[in-house]
Order: sequence, then C-alpha cells, then structure tokens
Amino acid sequence: MLPQRSITGLLHYIISLAQQLSVYLPFKIFSMSLNRILAFSSSRVGNSGYLQTAVPVIKDFLGDKILNIAFIPFATVGNDYDEYGAMVKNGLQDLPHRIDTVTAINAKELLENADVILVGGGNTFKLLHDIYEYKLLDVIRDKVNSGAPYIGWSAGSNITGPTIGTTNDMPVIEPKSFNALGLFPFQINPHYTNVKPEGHNGETRDQRLEEFIRMNPGLSVVGLPEGTALRFDNGLLSFIGLKPGALFYLGASADEIIKEEISVNKDLSFLL
Ligand code: ASP
Repeated sequence: MLPQRSITGLLHYIISLAQQLSVYLPFKIFSMSLNRILAFSSSRVGNSGYLQTAVPVIKDFLGDKILNIAFIPFATVGNDYDEYGAMVKNGLQDLPHRIDTVTAINAKELLENADVILVGGGNTFKLLHDIYEYKLLDVIRDKVNSGAPYIGWSAGSNITGPTIGTTNDMPVIEPKSFNALGLFPFQINPHYTNVKPEGHNGETRDQRLEEFIRMNPGLSVVGLPEGTALRFDNGLLSFIGLKPGALFYLGASADEIIKEEISVNKDLSFLL
C-alpha cells in the first residue's frame, strides 16, 4: 500500500519507480526526474566566511518553510562529526531550518525522517567509504529520488556523479567501490582550476580530467570553479555562480577530448 503522500510526493514516487525500471526501457528517463540538487564547488569562496556565499543560494533553493535537514559529516577525516556539524550549523544559522548531524548510530532514522539531505566536503574517499560502511548509498539515493532536496559541496558534490573518479583527493581509505550516488549521469570536479605554477611539472587539472575521460569515455566532466554550483530543479540543470566553468567530454573522433567553457547561468539540461 502507498503511504499517504501529497500530489508532488505521489509524482516523485511514480518517477522513482520509473527510474528503477528504466534499465528495461529503451529511452532515457532521467530527464523526467523531479529530483532537486544543489552541488557547490566549495564551502568558501576566496576569503569569505564558511558557507557564507552558499547561504543566499540555499535560501532561494529551499524557501522559507522550516525544514529538517540531515547533515552527513563523513568526509571529515578526524571523525569529529559533532564538531563538523556545529560548524555547519553556525555557517547556516541565518536559515530557518533545523539541522541534525548524522552518525553511524542515528543515520537510517535521521535520513528517513529528513526533508533535506546536506553533505559536507572533506575527503571524498572517506565520505564514500563511510556511506558504504553504514549501508547508506541506497537510503540517500531513494530519499532524493522520492523528492528530498540534496545539497552538497566539494566531496558532497563529487558523490552526486556516477563515480568519485574525478575528485582531487588522495585515496586515504578504500571505499567498497568508487561508484557513487549517480544522481547526475556526469562527473563533477570541484575546486576546478587549471592554474599551473611556474616551473611545476606535475599534471595540470585538465590533463588529469582528460586521463579520466580516456579511461571512462562515456562520462563527461563538469569542472566547477570555487564560487560556482549546479542547480537542478524543475527538471532544469543550470550552472550558477560568479565565473565560467568547464565541460570536458570525448569528441567525435575517439582521440579528441573537448573542453568547452560553461558560461554563467548556462542551461546544462542537455547533459541529463
Ligand atoms: N577535498 C575536496 C573537498 O571536499 C574534494 C575534492 O577536491 O575533490 O573539499
């Protein structure tokens, strides 16, 4: 029997069922999705305060109604979840919502009862490791597919893609798999910049992303410079922020990797 739902809830339910069935369907169903996602490049922009520039964007995304937010702090490497939660609550104090920090013990209950899922940055391998460890990948995905807005920054944005293969982090711990939430059908590279210090001989960011595409030719990558984000709402995916981003994908000839500038406010729905 269906639990009691609003019309929107019912719509989400039907679409999430359709998404689960989509493997059997000959057409793409993702673009019909009513998921709501805000994926920031970073928590800070330049010298701004922690989450300072995110606050107005989140306010516009979530509206004024008081909501229960479940904050996932697993990207922190020190396991100082409460401390991280307190920092996030402080950063978002101008928003009217209630924020609870997810731990191994309260995770399932908190996530099931939350209106919004918020995932912080840190080390992406650690974040995904803990999500697998506590068996939360499907819990989070189902929640978002049933209409709960998802907000993440940095590592929290990395896991919205199919894999975490375009993180900038070091693999300090081995997650069960590199496969992530797959809420978006493309990869994200947060803190994107291609600056090469004079005399430095390591790979540039663009070279690293090109390597990823060579090994994973079916996946495009959106490079999100600090101060930018992706907003997916009402079936529309927009690139928002202060400066252009970069889109990487395999060209028509298999050898050619294309890099294109993404202008501010560009509609990226064609990537879905
Ligand atoms: N370490 C970054 C963060 O969460 C993630 C990344 O750069 O891939 O802040």
